[in-house]
Amino acid sequence: SLSQPLLIAEGLSKHFGGIRAVNNAEIKVHSGTITGLIGPNGAGKTTLFNLLSNFIRPDDGKVIFNGQPIHDLPTNEIALKGCVRTFQVARVLSRLSVLENMLLATPHQTGENLIQLWFQQGKIRQQEKENKERAMDILESVGLSAKAYDYAGALSGGQRKLLEIARALMTRPKLILLDEPAAGVNPTLIGQICEHIINWNKQGITFLIIEHNMDLVMSLCDHVWVLAEGTNLADGTPAEIQKNSAVLEAYLGE
Ligand code: ATP
Repeated sequence: SLSQPLLIAEGLSKHFGGIRAVNNAEIKVHSGTITGLIGPNGAGKTTLFNLLSNFIRPDDGKVIFNGQPIHDLPTNEIALKGCVRTFQVARVLSRLSVLENMLLATPHQTGENLIQLWFQQGKIRQQEKENKERAMDILESVGLSAKAYDYAGALSGGQRKLLEIARALMTRPKLILLDEPAAGVNPTLIGQICEHIINWNKQGITFLIIEHNMDLVMSLCDHVWVLAEGTNLADGTPAEIQKNSAVLEAYLGE
């Protein structure tokens, strides 16, 4: 594609003591794609996600999202700009309802002072109503609307992953960073999650996906980046990556 990538990371590094978790890594994600990020265990994939979302601060490097540097912004501001991430083990608040988890993702409007707040009450109430309707629509689309008032802690592992992605959608993101959407999820639900990803992608949402399930990566992704020992090993189409001898070697050495 000739257009500027939606996400560009260059020279990203993060060391933990003597461990070079991510070492001068780069990645580009083009708008409209489902892009994969793969690599053997300990390759630095999750750390790279943490750096892209500034969940942990990089030692070095830059991250450009939608034409703007984001590496100095707090994670929540990055999310409001349209780049949200999920976690390997879904982070939902177990003691809140499914619907409450969804509503937590919406930016809260707060008044400067009490009088202003009083004048804004109508507007806030309208906003809350719209947020709730939007949350219920998204829950409906992932088959979780019947569970809206259940504790999120009562959901299965796979349903929690779906809830986490559904919550990410609340902020109308341009890009979702998905950390292992299929890990620990039963095969039926994996199929459903894939269908949802394809549908959301058709609606214009770009995805960067860490995943160990190679069948899933190769069938979902337009382009794949491979990390090994914290650095770039290769990138290309799934077909190119599958016959790349350096990639095969890195996995065989595991
Ligand atoms: P996996 O596929 O197994 O989830 P990964 O590719 O996501 O692995 P990371 O979790 O990013 O890899 O880990 C990269 C390296 O950095 C590993 O050697 C890991 O032990 C190390 N590491 C990650 N986070 C920390 C931390 N907070 N403190 C110390 N070392 C860390």
